[in-house]
Amino acid sequence: MADDKALTTRAADFSAWYNEVIMRAQLADYSPVRGCMVIRPNGYAIWEQMQRALDQMFKDTGHENAYFPLFIPQSFLSKEAEHVEGFAPECAVVTRGGGKELEEPLVVRPTSETIIYSMYAKWIQSYRDLPLLINQWANVVRWEMRTRLFLRTTEFLWQEGHTAHATEAEAEEETLKILRLYRTFMEEWMAMPVLTGRKTDSERFAGALRTYSCEALMQDNKALQAGTSHNLGQNFAKAFDVTYQTAAGGVDHVWNTSWGVSTRLVGALVMTHGDDRGIVTPPRLAQYQVVIVPIYKSDAERATVLEAAAHVHQELKLAGIRVHLDARDGLKPGAKYYEWEGRGVPLRLEIGPRDVAGGTVMLARRTGGKKESLPTHGLGRLLQDEMDRMQRDMLAAATARREAASIRGATKERFLAHLAADAGFVYAGFCGDAKCEADIKEQTKATIRVLPDAEFRSPEAPATCVWCGRPSVAEAVWAKAY
Ligand SMILES: [Zn+2]
Repeated sequence: MADDKALTTRAADFSAWYNEVIMRAQLADYSPVRGCMVIRPNGYAIWEQMQRALDQMFKDTGHENAYFPLFIPQSFLSKEAEHVEGFAPECAVVTRGGGKELEEPLVVRPTSETIIYSMYAKWIQSYRDLPLLINQWANVVRWEMRTRLFLRTTEFLWQEGHTAHATEAEAEEETLKILRLYRTFMEEWMAMPVLTGRKTDSERFAGALRTYSCEALMQDNKALQAGTSHNLGQNFAKAFDVTYQTAAGGVDHVWNTSWGVSTRLVGALVMTHGDDRGIVTPPRLAQYQVVIVPIYKSDAERATVLEAAAHVHQELKLAGIRVHLDARDGLKPGAKYYEWEGRGVPLRLEIGPRDVAGGTVMLARRTGGKKESLPTHGLGRLLQDEMDRMQRDMLAAATARREAASIRGATKERFLAHLAADAGFVYAGFCGDAKCEADIKEQTKATIRVLPDAEFRSPEAPATCVWCGRPSVAEAVWAKAY
């Protein structure tokens, strides 16, 4: 089996490493349909943990779930000019159904603004119906020519929030609230630091007024757009005639927002924390936070060790820990360690005859360091603390790595050299001219990831555009991206 071979290292070939790690951990597989992937149980379990956490966060902020159709009448997409231009090239279109040509072709949703706002036009009458705060968990299809497991696939799973508000200020507040929510999730659950900020017009969502984004830096120093939140203004409300009676008695169009994160986050998790032995899952998102491996030689040992292991298993379950007892016979402990390491389980407990006699277990951390003997008494509490610490350490390590790969106040030469070397984020002055942005992209393949929020900006604002030397209107963060 290919499983016995060492993985390609990250340093040797990051892209090959990424694919091998996913295959070995059985997160996903290639499908018979080009560009589509199968998410296997191990990968889906991580997505489920992500969904659970995000879903609760959406509900805690007043959002409700609903479900809209997979098919969108083609004419809907054309109603918002920028939107159709942005999405038409990657749409899958159904022209036949039930053995007949359809009167109107149906687009397989690439995103659901149009069909959702067509319904909002029916549901919203008065200011009393606002705000309307709905989220949908769904799959979407965008025809992709070059695909990567989790990062870019023709069909992917995501959530899309769609809200309607009475004023621009309320829509903006919602857009930024969700941006912060995403950031909290990415930092506190994924242990993945992100920069937040606004996108330039050329990177804006097709049909939006303003797009905000969470940007992460992967271990190969390429940026990954991890989540976006859009203030759609009244563009879609005008296209779909979503109006409401104002408190003052007039009629106005609503203001919309939309926002989403996808299964791409599973890929982000792999590329943020994985090492040359496999994936490393942050405890809060791990399917199994702890795996117990019993160690024995004789049948007599086997009986006592398994009994003790079952006891520990039960205790930890009661302590609210997601724990798995690997009692498989005919597989050496070393082979089990190897398998669970590859799958990124945060903590491993080894229990042998000596541990049973001493009332202890041996703890091994997926993030490395010396093994440690722990008393079984009060083990649940100890492991919870251990996981909290690991969760924090993983975020700190990823943040330190990102900062070490970020440069500020660079000259044009340094700017070009950093981007050419795939060395990470570059903070630089920007004149605001789309031509400078396009020229830089053409020469370096790098894009402006965000015009960063205040807390990420350099202490001293850059005075001039790194490209043309004219006065800078905003600091921009550049990088090559997935
Ligand atoms: Zn410029």
